[in-house]
Amino acid sequence: MLIFERSHPGRRNAAQAPHHSVVIGGPSTGLRTGIPAVLLREDRPLLPEASEMDVVRHYTRLSQKNFSIDTHFYPLGSCTMKYNPRACNTLAMLPNFLARHPLAPEASGQGVLACLYDLQEILKDVSGMAGVSLMPMAGAQGEFAGIAMIRAYHDARNDMARTEIIVPDAAHGTNPATAVMCGYTVKEIPTDANGDVDLDALRAATGPQTAGLMLTNPSTLGVFEKRIADIQKIIHDAGGLLYYDGANLNAILGKVKPGDMGFDVIHMNLHKTFSTPHGGGGPGAGAVGVAQRLLPFLPLPVVAKEPPPQPSPASEGGSHYRYLTEADLPQSIGRLSAFSGNIGILLRAYVYARMLGAEGMHRVAEFATLNANYLMAELHKAGFTVAFPQRRASHEFIVSMKPLKDATGISAMDVAKRLLDKGYHPPTTYFPMLVPECLLIEPTETESKETLDGFVAALKEIRDEAHAAPELVKGAPHTMPVRRLDDVKAARELDLAWKPAV
Ligand SMILES: *Cc1c(COP(=O)(O)O)cnc(C)c1O
Repeated sequence: MLIFERSHPGRRNAAQAPHHSVVIGGPSTGLRTGIPAVLLREDRPLLPEASEMDVVRHYTRLSQKNFSIDTHFYPLGSCTMKYNPRACNTLAMLPNFLARHPLAPEASGQGVLACLYDLQEILKDVSGMAGVSLMPMAGAQGEFAGIAMIRAYHDARNDMARTEIIVPDAAHGTNPATAVMCGYTVKEIPTDANGDVDLDALRAATGPQTAGLMLTNPSTLGVFEKRIADIQKIIHDAGGLLYYDGANLNAILGKVKPGDMGFDVIHMNLHKTFSTPHGGGGPGAGAVGVAQRLLPFLPLPVVAKEPPPQPSPASEGGSHYRYLTEADLPQSIGRLSAFSGNIGILLRAYVYARMLGAEGMHRVAEFATLNANYLMAELHKAGFTVAFPQRRASHEFIVSMKPLKDATGISAMDVAKRLLDKGYHPPTTYFPMLVPECLLIEPTETESKETLDGFVAALKEIRDEAHAAPELVKGAPHTMPVRRLDDVKAARELDLAWKPAV
């Protein structure tokens, strides 16, 4: 039911009632807003009219229909749906952060700039890169910034013959999309039987036309590229640059640095690894880190720390922070947002990183990996088909439901929908597309053994049901407010406008 359907003409509540009963009125109601009459609408807008209790109950009920990390295990592979400590929210929402105007002078924002500068330094350390810009507002936008920098680098050297970006077939869809948006053609290379990049195919695909390679490591297959040193040599020897899709950074946090693997540029999904909850497409932050040779091209603004213009007792710790602009970085690829990125997300990431410290980051990677390997081993033991049983999982792994489908007709999608009835958000389904009927499972470091055991038990139950009562599984979910949705129709014919019934 929509809030509009709970609406009753004239119903108000004290907290909502505007001071002068106005805004909804139109010119005839004697406005006191000072807005010129020509700019005012004639008709009342169709806004729902409801009491405070109606509103509170409606939205609380709606929120409870959703799965979320706060209510359910959410093992969505590649997405790193981990618990977001409340302290991160609380500190990011301190009144002075919230009230700061994006156009306020830098002199009055030294505190927030200091936090952002420190976050840049932390991410430099984590990634092993020479510089970081916090500006991209999603992983995909970070990819765009990264490939735009690779392009700017080649262009600045007048190296115009490089037209291709190499992307392994296991990559997230945003990788090839990014390369195309930056004007490159995509050369896809296959994965070998062990889940690694096929080196012979990589060698064959690389040449003077190669602008760079986009690689996710550990890959979306959940395995760490063992021959990463060879891969980087092949690309660099050909004059290309290496792009690191850092969406899976959770697995290696504090353990190994993409800069040390030889990468030239990386994006980090702060809304995955650095704990901000995400869903429904945002909000996010896809900070980019670059090696020395790409520093001049970083997206603006970047926060710099300098000696104070005139040393004074007021200048905090003897430092002054300011945003670098086009005057400082004339070769920058430019700006990606109206102001300075998704500051709320950046502050959450900063608090999270400071709470963990270097030692805590090691623990994140260790427990994320331990949880994934425990879950993989338990499912393997229970007879499920693990895609790469000979490999240790990084922070996620793939189970194929192909044998179950062959035996019972029950698909990975059916299993995913039935998991909802059992109180679990399903893992990522049908991605990566290399493994048929796949579930990509990422438990993260924030889940307990009991939760993981419960999830294994639920999958075993569903497998039993698939044999004994396949219709039950095919008809799932049975306990949700909606059943199977037509997601193609939802994407192609999205209709979010409410109109009154006549
Ligand atoms: C999530 C993800 C992305 C894209 O990040 P967004 O913030 O969703 O734009 C890219 N690559 C991989 C492997 C991912 O998991």
